[in-house]
Amino acid sequence: MRFCLALLIFVVGSLSARAETAQTAFSEAIDLFEAALPSLPAEVMSVDLSTYRDAITLRKFRSAYWGGTLSLGVAEAGEGSERSCKSFAAFVRLPPENGELLLTLCPQFSTPGADALRRLTIIHEMVHVVAGPDECRAMAFAATVEKAATGTFTPVDRYWSANNCAASAFRLPR
Ligand SMILES: [Zn+2]
Repeated sequence: MRFCLALLIFVVGSLSARAETAQTAFSEAIDLFEAALPSLPAEVMSVDLSTYRDAITLRKFRSAYWGGTLSLGVAEAGEGSERSCKSFAAFVRLPPENGELLLTLCPQFSTPGADALRRLTIIHEMVHVVAGPDECRAMAFAATVEKAATGTFTPVDRYWSANNCAASAFRLPR
């Protein structure tokens, strides 16, 4: 009985630590986006920035892309519970169902020491939330936001070429 109780506390403890990590990643992504906003136009790569802002801050937004008002849920996947977690740190299942989208954060999202990558992952996934599945758009948008906010951006060369983005309509910042 005592053992079970200890185990329960351990599980609850580790879940709340992960929730805190997700919360921190979201607020850092919002800070990054807000820092970029003054130097960006109203629309970046066909992503309306006021829609994007509503989505990332309120998790509720009116979408010209999907149609109607949508809300976003954020879930944390348990170890081995999601097949997509084998390939991704986070993912959004598209299209929305009943006006709702779900961003799932996988266990590796919470890997210690990956803070900058976490906020970038949120910025990236939110492009899928607002503007659909195009990987090149999501990468180029995230790099543009990061560059506008910090003057530099995280290289995404491998993922960029894996998705054949050189042939896409999107470009990484110079
Ligand atoms: Zn993506």
